[in-house]
Amino acid sequence: MGGYKNRILRVNLTDHTFSEEPLDKDLIHDYIGGRGFGIKFLYDDLKPGVDPLGEDNEIIFIAGPLAGTNAQSFARWKIFFKSPLTGTYFKSSGGGHFAAELKFAGFDAVIVKGISEKPVYLWIHDGQCEFRDASYLWGLDCDDTHTLIREELGDPLVRIACIGPAGERGVKYAGVFSDRRAAGRGGGGAVMGAKNLKAVAVRGREKVDIADPEAFREAVKAQIAAYKAHPMFESFSQTGTQIAEFTNVLGMYPTRNFREGVLPDWEKIEGAEYTKLRVRKTACYSCMIHCGNITKVGTGKYKGAWSEGPEYETTWAFSGPIGVPNIGLTVAADKLCDDLGLDTISTGNAIGFAFELYERGILTKEDTGGLELTYGREDLVLELIRQIAYREGLGDLLAEGTREAARRIGKGAEQYAIHVKGLELPAYDPRGAKAHGLNLLTANLGADHNCGYAPQELFGVPIPREVDRFAIEGKGELTKFNQDITAFMETGILCGFPVSMSMIDAGLYGRLISAATGIKDFADPNYMWLVGERIFNLERMFNVREGFGKKDDAFPARLTNEPIPSGPSAGQVFEAEPLLADYYKVRGWDPETGIPTAAKLRELGLDFTAQYAK
Ligand code: SF4
Repeated sequence: MGGYKNRILRVNLTDHTFSEEPLDKDLIHDYIGGRGFGIKFLYDDLKPGVDPLGEDNEIIFIAGPLAGTNAQSFARWKIFFKSPLTGTYFKSSGGGHFAAELKFAGFDAVIVKGISEKPVYLWIHDGQCEFRDASYLWGLDCDDTHTLIREELGDPLVRIACIGPAGERGVKYAGVFSDRRAAGRGGGGAVMGAKNLKAVAVRGREKVDIADPEAFREAVKAQIAAYKAHPMFESFSQTGTQIAEFTNVLGMYPTRNFREGVLPDWEKIEGAEYTKLRVRKTACYSCMIHCGNITKVGTGKYKGAWSEGPEYETTWAFSGPIGVPNIGLTVAADKLCDDLGLDTISTGNAIGFAFELYERGILTKEDTGGLELTYGREDLVLELIRQIAYREGLGDLLAEGTREAARRIGKGAEQYAIHVKGLELPAYDPRGAKAHGLNLLTANLGADHNCGYAPQELFGVPIPREVDRFAIEGKGELTKFNQDITAFMETGILCGFPVSMSMIDAGLYGRLISAATGIKDFADPNYMWLVGERIFNLERMFNVREGFGKKDDAFPARLTNEPIPSGPSAGQVFEAEPLLADYYKVRGWDPETGIPTAAKLRELGLDFTAQYAK
């Protein structure tokens, strides 16, 4: 069999032991890899109710069967854990070279549990694993951590996934960073911090075998041709994910804590403006899109600030929530979050939330340490990021995430915390695109756009059909389509950007995986759709086992009751009730509880979860 290394590394940090096991044949067939393996490991390994920051939670690093090959955009690595921010199952993914190097080091997955008495990092190389002292790294930012580990190991090409000060201090939305590519969302960094695990470093010389080299070569050629023929390939390649012009023109760029849908003067932060600041392009292992940009600010208050990015979500996080489009600030804030190890989306939301509470008198100068959190005060953003990462002053409260911070503040603050299941919303107002919003409402992580992006509504991609973004009819089916295709394309693990732009279809995806692994079923698009639905439902059942259900598929009242006040989406609310009813029906879930029925679970081969289906 090709693609896989057929080796899982299990690490116990409590007693500093590790063991290896092969991949189970049924696991490969039924879940393919990547996101499929991640949820199956977590479901099997974790007892219900496990403390996300305790010894028994796991953090699992996975590379897909195509990582380390010359298939395009498959070098994403994923982490899986029960989230300290949401309490749900969680997956988060990063790019760069870590996934390919993990395969070259001889492993498909590293499953880490336990808590080390002292800070450590794992050094995984050529089929070996070592526990290394990380006491001298504790407290360092992510860039310095990379530099010192490489110096210690004497190899500049060691690939590293690490945490910064935010993860060490248990900030609930601290991420994991590899060469400034982030698995940012959901608090994986806090899980590592609680385990005293500063980093995982990988390096190796093993090859990734291909089962049918000729068929694989042809499939990769077809993938390259499909990319080149895609109408958005050129712009995506040039400006990366910068789409502020799209979302502002649609009137769904969340502004001032989701009160408005258009940011005044948004043209200052459109893609073309970032291109002017570009120093050079960057790419993940084997990806011709090379969407990354090293950006450096040349003038003004933030002169000299640089970052790898920012991507669209980060651009938004440090403009929309505070109501000011300062391109220099977005670059400086991006770099600071990367250094300190913070998810930019949740950080930006937390800041916008605090500004609204201050405006309404729910937070006062006493709570903010004297800071006047007035919309437009972009000069406070870097200080607030620092406070959150180090849990100082108001930052200690905001570090809990908006849901928990609001609960502790009281005084009606809950209605201004914009989240689903505790995960703060990304840079799209769901009132302006109903399938996109329905995914945010039902994704198994909380409000995650990457679980079921709706390019049909945002970019007019007519696959599987053209849609009206405001219409609610048929959006249950469309959301299921977007969620299931994403789930199976993340088995590979294909990057979310070509997935969300529909750059390859199920048939081509299947050809690539089937040729690499030699497993015939994977070439059948119908089988791929089945696996996607299976993965999505197993994730749902993980959450059901944790007590989640229909009551948690909920937006704050602002999004369901308050119409967008002006702009191209003016008057729109999110019609949660009919949209959810339609979605549950299409999914085969109970309309009263939002739990998959026993019949649906049986159909998907998930009978082992049926005891939790009422
Ligand atoms: S599209 Fe961008 S993020 Fe995705 S694999 Fe390619 S270079 Fe990496």
